[in-house]
Amino acid sequence: MDRVTFRAKRLDIAAILRLILQTTLIFNSGTRCRIRRGAMQSELSVSLGNAGHWLEEHVRHLATHDLHPVARHSGRAVFETSYGKIRLAADADRLSVRIDSPDEDGLTVLQGSVSEYLIAHDPGLAKGIAWSGTAPAPGRPKNLREMKVVRTREICDWLLRMTLSGEDLAPFTERGLHVRLMLPRDPSSTEIVWPTIEPSGAVRFPTGEDELTVRVYTIRGICPERGTVEIDIVRHAGGLFSDWAETAQPGDRIGMIGPGGGYFPADGWLAIGGDDTAVPAIMRILEARSGTEGGHAVIGLREHQEPVAVSLPENFTFDWVPLDELPAALKAATAARGADQTGWFAGEAEQAKEIRDHFKTVLGLAPERRYSAVYWRRDETAESH
Ligand SMILES: Cc1cc2nc3c(=O)[nH]c(=O)nc-3n(C[C@H](O)[C@H](O)[C@H](O)COP(=O)(O)OP(=O)(O)OC[C@H]3O[C@@H](n4cnc5c(N)ncnc54)[C@H](O)[C@@H]3O)c2cc1C
Repeated sequence: MDRVTFRAKRLDIAAILRLILQTTLIFNSGTRCRIRRGAMQSELSVSLGNAGHWLEEHVRHLATHDLHPVARHSGRAVFETSYGKIRLAADADRLSVRIDSPDEDGLTVLQGSVSEYLIAHDPGLAKGIAWSGTAPAPGRPKNLREMKVVRTREICDWLLRMTLSGEDLAPFTERGLHVRLMLPRDPSSTEIVWPTIEPSGAVRFPTGEDELTVRVYTIRGICPERGTVEIDIVRHAGGLFSDWAETAQPGDRIGMIGPGGGYFPADGWLAIGGDDTAVPAIMRILEARSGTEGGHAVIGLREHQEPVAVSLPENFTFDWVPLDELPAALKAATAARGADQTGWFAGEAEQAKEIRDHFKTVLGLAPERRYSAVYWRRDETAESH
């Protein structure tokens, strides 16, 4: 497998799809994608055996990841994302896919996501995927930027802030909170090989000597006018990326692809929580929050980690708690409001699952009002998530 997203066969591709497409946004009218006249279109038809059965199964599977179609009829499903619409139709052995997107960036992301999803489930399709209409543009992905390290500074003893500079960053201010950062073996080299788009639209990552370390981070701050992005990096033992951040030099090169995934929760009372890796996303969400409905935030820290300064929106309360008490603390904060709230959580896999079950099953929060994401897994590198 040479595409990094699928390097581990046990990867659940729906989780990646969710990361990329932030489909939960379909319910959030503020960020809903409007397809105007002149939008870009692309179509695909693949043979999948019993396509109706395939579609049925995959719609069910995606729903377990809270990816729900906005329209569903027998043999048809429509998904809507901030990148555009994906229409799926099954007829005998053929699955037809149609993408409508307002711009080329959106089309590229959706073509890649659909192709990667199909290939992950049926590797035999890799060579047979041919889009009509606007075909995938060969070369570097449109949403890839080559960035340079400007500086790294210590926010506290467990968090570093890295400033990166690059060009054409305006598209990274919308459609998602996260990026995939790609670290070459030698970031000072001028000979870095970046990913390319395959004819199927899937992103092909270099292998062997040119292999990149790919990790997902949150855009903590962004200023397209100055051409800078800030990333907050948790310092932890044995992390390839976090180790590199300790010694990164101004001028080091790093690839950034995205944005994708994560969302600013809807208005209304918000229960938000996470561990150290979620601090950048939680801070960004709280800073962007308008309205006075309020809410409660809770962050779990390890014994040696000291709290950092937080600025809270109106009517918000906040707690730092020991990491192992995080799920219980967030659950307690949600107790009084039942289904009348929005829940947001990110952190280690087991805690994320516990909170996901709580939001969904105990509180009965509607899909558009709950989000619980795995940001890292114990004893696994991010590439095998
Ligand atoms: C959507 C998303 C957004 C994210 N945003 C951020 C962000 O803004 N800032 C941030 O710091 N991280 C963030 N993360 C988490 C980050 O991608 C992982 O922590 C990643 O594993 C770090 O890569 P690494 O190379 O340092 O460690 P890896 O090489 O991936 O992991 C090495 C070992 O360290 C363990 N490990 C990984 N992360 C941690 C940790 N935080 N504490 C303790 N042990 C750990 C792993 O289990 C593994 O055993 C985000 C993840 C996702 C999915």
